[in-house]
Amino acid sequence: MNYPKILIATNNKGKRDEISSLLGSDFKVLVLDDLHADFDDYEETGNTFCANAEGKAMYFHNLTGLPTVADDSGLIVPALGGAPGVHSARWAGENADDKKRIAKLLHEMKDLPGDVRKALFVCNAAFADKGGIVTCCEGEVSGEILTSPSGANGFGYDPVFFYPSAACTFAEMNREDKNKISHRGIAFRAMADYLKNYFTV
Ligand code: IMP
Repeated sequence: MNYPKILIATNNKGKRDEISSLLGSDFKVLVLDDLHADFDDYEETGNTFCANAEGKAMYFHNLTGLPTVADDSGLIVPALGGAPGVHSARWAGENADDKKRIAKLLHEMKDLPGDVRKALFVCNAAFADKGGIVTCCEGEVSGEILTSPSGANGFGYDPVFFYPSAACTFAEMNREDKNKISHRGIAFRAMADYLKNYFTV
């Protein structure tokens, strides 16, 4: 099937490869860099992952006219009132790295016993086309936050996110295994199914 090219609203090479493999070989994807335009960043000011994903998808769809998919994701810790939530990337400061973000998380959770260390990764993927939002797909995965990091794969909060069904952290899983069960895997497989139907009928 010859689907139109889809713009993925990111310049992150890791995300491009991951999303492209999740959508499957039926879809040819472009990222912002491929358009060689000097776009301003989209500012994520929404209160929900879906609002941010939809806002970003609409913003780049309006600028390019292309069918556009954008995502927003993060970690929710109920015992921290849902933090870091939509602020997951900037939670420890604008220029903080993953190490600093993890250190802040472990510090905030230092007095929390095992039974309240539950956490969720959430991802929303939004699709904009023909001047509007068409759909927003969600994926989530539950786990627990460890008291110290373990594993070297992945990114972000992966080294402290323990996934009970595999009895290891996300940073101890390879990318393929993580994609099978991750919030992003679930959201983008749902998006791929949606897009196949959307472009077929
Ligand atoms: P964004 O979706 O690019 O805005 O990033 C959200 C932030 O949430 C990332 O910078 C990470 O800190 C965190 N995050 C989202 N998904 C994951 C994941 O799969 N593993 C670890 N951290 C994640």
